[in-house]
Amino acid sequence: MAEKGKDHLLVNKIGEGTVIDHIPDWKAETVVQVLRLDKLARMQADASVATLQNVTSGKLGRKDIVKVDGWHVDEKDADILSLVFPSITVNYIEEGQVSKYQPKVPDTIEGRIRCPELGCISNAEREPVVSRFATLKHERLLQCRYCDTLISFDSVPDHVRT
Ligand SMILES: [Zn+2]
Repeated sequence: MAEKGKDHLLVNKIGEGTVIDHIPDWKAETVVQVLRLDKLARMQADASVATLQNVTSGKLGRKDIVKVDGWHVDEKDADILSLVFPSITVNYIEEGQVSKYQPKVPDTIEGRIRCPELGCISNAEREPVVSRFATLKHERLLQCRYCDTLISFDSVPDHVRT
């Protein structure tokens, strides 16, 4: 119960924003990378990001937490993050009220991931088309709709568009 109370306190420090919880320990930087939180500087100048690393958790033993004050992480980006870290939970805070979002593996991902095949039409220099990937859930793979190139869920952080 003491642990629960501690989490509650962390969440309540934010009036508006997003808390990504139950991240595997020492993986907060990957979360920042996949969610492109470093780009917040130009999108939302007053947003702030706090990472808590290796905090104790009853569920995982140790975990990381990423708190984004003043910015609601897109649900589709949270879904992509769950490909890499299935354990994550997402809390949206609005006017001090917490609502949970349980990320789900999407059927398709459009635009957010770059195809590693340089010759793919989605990487064309002139008039590139929006990248499209289908998720192969059992194989934990993404497949490019144009060139069939495969990306493992675990390597998604290397292919997120920056
Ligand atoms: Zn492709």
